[in-house]
Amino acid sequence: MGKETSPCWNPKIEMMPKKDLESLQLKLLRSLVSRVYDSSSYYRQRMEASNLTPDDIHGLKDIIKLPFMTKKDLRDNYPDKFFLAPKRDIVRYHASSGTTGKATIVGYTRNDIDAWTESLARSLTSIGLGADDVIQVSNTYGLFTGGLGFHYAAERIGAAVIPASTGNTQRQIELIKDLGVTALAATPSYLMYLGEIAEKMGISIKNDTVLRTGLLGAEPWSEGMRDRIQNWLGVKGINCFGASELAGPLWSECSYQKGIHIWGDFAYFEVLDTKTHEPLGLGEKGELVITMLQKEAFPLIRYRIGDITSMDDEKCECGRTHPRMARITGRVDDMLIVRGINIFPSQVEYSLLTNPEVGNEFQIIVERKSALDSMMVKVELKPEAFTDSIAELNKVRERIEHKLRSTLNVSACVELVQPGTLPRFEGKAKRVVDNRKL
Ligand code: AMP
Ligand code: ZN
Repeated sequence: MGKETSPCWNPKIEMMPKKDLESLQLKLLRSLVSRVYDSSSYYRQRMEASNLTPDDIHGLKDIIKLPFMTKKDLRDNYPDKFFLAPKRDIVRYHASSGTTGKATIVGYTRNDIDAWTESLARSLTSIGLGADDVIQVSNTYGLFTGGLGFHYAAERIGAAVIPASTGNTQRQIELIKDLGVTALAATPSYLMYLGEIAEKMGISIKNDTVLRTGLLGAEPWSEGMRDRIQNWLGVKGINCFGASELAGPLWSECSYQKGIHIWGDFAYFEVLDTKTHEPLGLGEKGELVITMLQKEAFPLIRYRIGDITSMDDEKCECGRTHPRMARITGRVDDMLIVRGINIFPSQVEYSLLTNPEVGNEFQIIVERKSALDSMMVKVELKPEAFTDSIAELNKVRERIEHKLRSTLNVSACVELVQPGTLPRFEGKAKRVVDNRKL
């Protein structure tokens, strides 16, 4: 695939000498820590508990003195106890899946939306996209950050945006063909599915369209899948990364496809040993911990996002100096990503247990059929709820499916099974069978 280097969106920042970038990061970190210490009782209490004041941050390495934040902290502060900006400065809310039924609400000031857009605009430009491009955004629009995140950035670089969102794949393909779409933002599995449906419609993405760039992320994928997408569809697969707690989709690889450029003026990434939480060296794989350096409404300091990856600090062939993140190869928790949506087994349990007929055991089975994920949940009924009446069982099954869908935002087929038939575990229950091959 072509590697032509494109102009920078913000050359002064993107090509900044490493030493200057690190000084800038330290300045931003110190001001962030002072801000949260002065204006948030949560942060102040946690820093006091660790015997810390903002004056203890002398260098970037001192970040390790600061306490971690976890998804539980976000959940415990639902809906907006973390917000640092006054309510009248919040211009948008998004929500991300939590580990139980409750989502995490993230608020944005105008500056937060602007920084998010700037971050992704730099990334899109680094792939070679610009005003001549037509970008179809096939990520969900709504509380999920994918759709609007790509939308704003694509508009900012002057591209024409097609806000297709998800669903109606045939129409998506017609739009790609008829409007001369050059880039598509989607999950990698959706792009593969789209390729299959296009073939069924007698359309070759490679030969009959000008789609050449896939902005792909929101779920794990592999180099093997990238090769398939590139060879079969003729679409350059660009790995994109972000998370709703951070803002949304924020970063991507450049046209060299050698790791995701993490704009250091917006974020500071640490990779830690998964057990000891000691910092790891460059290239060493461990748990990713993220500090967002400029967020106003919803700051995050040393957030344990749960992803496993490694970092590279060498200047990229494109000339950009910012750190690069390797592919995400796993999770430290049991989060699953199904059709780009995060799912925790604890959320499934939470929803199932609101049904009085449901027993103690369940099993989640995830498959990838025809490029798309499908999820099935086998649910044991309580002995007293088991009946020979198919109509009665169907009614229960439909209700469970409906409740799961509204908790998870993704549909799951439920199979009701007799009490005592699912596997029992002496140690940690293995509730998930993931049969997907990436
Ligand atoms: P969300 O908050 O729904 O945007 O989900 C964020 C999570 O999606 C991240 O913490 C990752 O686990 C996953 N994710 C996002 N982009 C990628 C990617 N390019 N590769 C692997 N996992 C990803
Ligand atoms: Zn690069």
